Amino acid sequence: MRGKNLKIRLLIGLAIVAFAFFKKCSQQEKNPYTGRTQTITMTPDQEIAIGLQSAPQMARQHGGLHPDNRWQALVDNVGNKLVNNSIAKQTPYKYEFHLLADPNTINAFALPGGQIFITYALFSKLESEDQLAGVLGHEIGHVLGKHSAERIGETEFWRTVSTGASVGADMGGLVNGIGQQTLLKNGRGDELESDELGVKFMIDAGYDPEALIGVMQILKAAAGPNRVPEFQSTHPDPENRIEKIKEAIRKYKNAS
Ligand SMILES: [Zn+2]
Repeated sequence: MRGKNLKIRLLIGLAIVAFAFFKKCSQQEKNPYTGRTQTITMTPDQEIAIGLQSAPQMARQHGGLHPDNRWQALVDNVGNKLVNNSIAKQTPYKYEFHLLADPNTINAFALPGGQIFITYALFSKLESEDQLAGVLGHEIGHVLGKHSAERIGETEFWRTVSTGASVGADMGGLVNGIGQQTLLKNGRGDELESDELGVKFMIDAGYDPEALIGVMQILKAAAGPNRVPEFQSTHPDPENRIEKIKEAIRKYKNAS
């Protein structure tokens, strides 16, 4: 009896894994802005809705919006200039740029659909409008690259696969391990892709793309010798990023 049960479990497990792969294939789409094939399970409207829904909580976690309207206006101006002069304008996304009050956490991030944030801690370390354009351009890159949507699509896929695997045999842990590694690898790729897109947006909007290298140096100095392990595992080394940024500058400067 036990042998028969195991056989049935294996068959069900295989069916779930096969279903996961079949579903993933049907959810593959070519990103219209980067040309890269991704697993996307939601529409741009849904991405926008998720971003709008999560934005207030993100702001709260970083001390709310910064009270100085002049600095917020500068962030808006630079962000809108990047959008209006680049391919970002041709997307369905609704871009909004928020300066957060947080004076300690050096960070900038983007939610799907166009909600973009920079903390005062990072803003205050920047030395020029071009560097601000570098940060915001990179974040617009995450939106266009659909990086959050892709991560959600991949997570759904691996969850289904590991369900199938743990039904079939006791290897859920193994498959989970692969899934997580895949997510982290995507994280590094996402950063490099956003850097490259950021360089392109900067050139298109008339900013000096070299300023993004300055931003990397600021991030590197801020990370210091006791770098946070999570940052290290999900973000490529700033030196590595600088090399790729230089490559992108050569590529897009020659093209324009
Ligand atoms: Zn990033």
